[in-house]
Amino acid sequence: MKKLIAGNWKMNGSLAANEALLGALAQGLAVKPACEVAVCVPAPYLAQVQALKSAKPALSAIDLGAQDVSAQASGAYTGEVSAAMLKELGCRYAIVGHSERRQYHGESDALVADKARAALASGITPIVCVGETLAEREAGHTEEVVKRQLAAVIHANGHCISEIVVAYEPVWAIGTGKTASPEEAQAVHTVLRAQLKAATDQSARVKILYGGSMNAANAATLLAQPDIDGGLIGGASLKAADFLTIIAAAQ
Ligand code: 13P
Repeated sequence: MKKLIAGNWKMNGSLAANEALLGALAQGLAVKPACEVAVCVPAPYLAQVQALKSAKPALSAIDLGAQDVSAQASGAYTGEVSAAMLKELGCRYAIVGHSERRQYHGESDALVADKARAALASGITPIVCVGETLAEREAGHTEEVVKRQLAAVIHANGHCISEIVVAYEPVWAIGTGKTASPEEAQAVHTVLRAQLKAATDQSARVKILYGGSMNAANAATLLAQPDIDGGLIGGASLKAADFLTIIAAAQ
C-alpha cells in the first residue's frame, strides 16, 4: 500500500504564510511523490488552500484535510463545522480525536466515534488519532488505552471501518522532540493492526500512521517499520524543506 504523509498544521498559518509554504511545496513536488500527501489546515484556510491547489498543478499531489469535524449534520451548534461543509470545500480527510482535542476540549471516545461516523457518512476519511499519555505508558497501560480508543470507533462504524486511517500518536511524543523509537512505535502498530484484522477482513487497506515529533532526521527509520504506513506530522509540516524530506523518505 502507498504510504501517506499528512501534515497537521494545528493552529498555525496566515494567508501569506500558507501561500509561501504551498509555493515551496509545489516546487518540491514538481516530480510526483511515491507516497500520498495531505495537509490538514485550519478551517478558515481550507478554501484558500483549495484555490492554490487549483492554481498550481504540482499541488494536485496534495489532498486537503481538516483538523476536526462536528459529529452533528447541521443545526444549532455554534462554532461547529459539518462533514458536508468540509466535503464541499474539497476535503478528503478530517482528523478526529487528536489528543489536543481530547485533552483541551474534553472529547470522549464516544464523541470521537460519532465524529468518525459523521465524516464517513459524508465521504470523508477520518484520521482517527489514538495514543497514551506518559503516565499511562509508565503504568504499563499503553496497549489497553489505544485499544479502548480504537474499539470505540470500530464498534460505532461496523462495516465502514476499512475506510478509516488510524494515527498512533503517543501524547508524550507530540511537540516534545521526544520520538517513540521505531521499535516502540512498531510494537503499538502491531497491536492496532491485529485489532483491525479482528474487526474487518479489509484490514490490509487501513493505513496506520505514526505521529509525534516525526522529522526529517528520523522519518526514514520510522517509516521503514513494517506496520508504519505513513506519518502525521505537526511542527515539521510547517517547514517546506523538512516536509519534503519526510515525503521523499516515504517510499
Ligand atoms: P509534532 O510533529 O509537532 O510532534 O506533532 C505531532 C502531531 O500532533 C500531529 O498530529
